[in-house]
Amino acid sequence: MRYWFDTEFHDDGRHLALISIGVVAEDGREYYAVSSDYDPDRATDWLVRNVLPQLGDVEKKSRQLIRQELQAFFAEGARPEFWADCGEYDWIILRQLFGTLTDWPEGWPFLAMDVEQWRIQSGAPPFPPQQTGHHNALADARHTRGCWQWLAAWAKGESPC
Ligand SMILES: [Mg+2]
Repeated sequence: MRYWFDTEFHDDGRHLALISIGVVAEDGREYYAVSSDYDPDRATDWLVRNVLPQLGDVEKKSRQLIRQELQAFFAEGARPEFWADCGEYDWIILRQLFGTLTDWPEGWPFLAMDVEQWRIQSGAPPFPPQQTGHHNALADARHTRGCWQWLAAWAKGESPC
């Protein structure tokens, strides 16, 4: 089962800290959570302007609870296949939710697929821009799925829009 995911995170150049995560499943299920382990008083000016206002009015959850909920979310259907958009940092954050490299659940892939890499290798034009919800992790995950669908249509020679 394909999952398109996105995270918002704090990056101090040495460590990454999860702020929020959004996931869209191929079967239409969606997951969104904001971490209670992140102290927004640490936020950079950029995060204060661009990310914190987009978090939404949801009850925050511990990283442990987010991990448990994601493990159940990803357990539906066949082996997960993870997709992100320029997701190298997002992938590390998702991986670290489950602990060290070797704590990763057995049978899950050790690779995140990336729509931007697929687009470049396909020679496809730039993706249509995201219309709303920039830096809300669920809106960004939905956009990543939209890019995947757009590129899948383009690759088949169909008009993607
Ligand atoms: Mg994002």
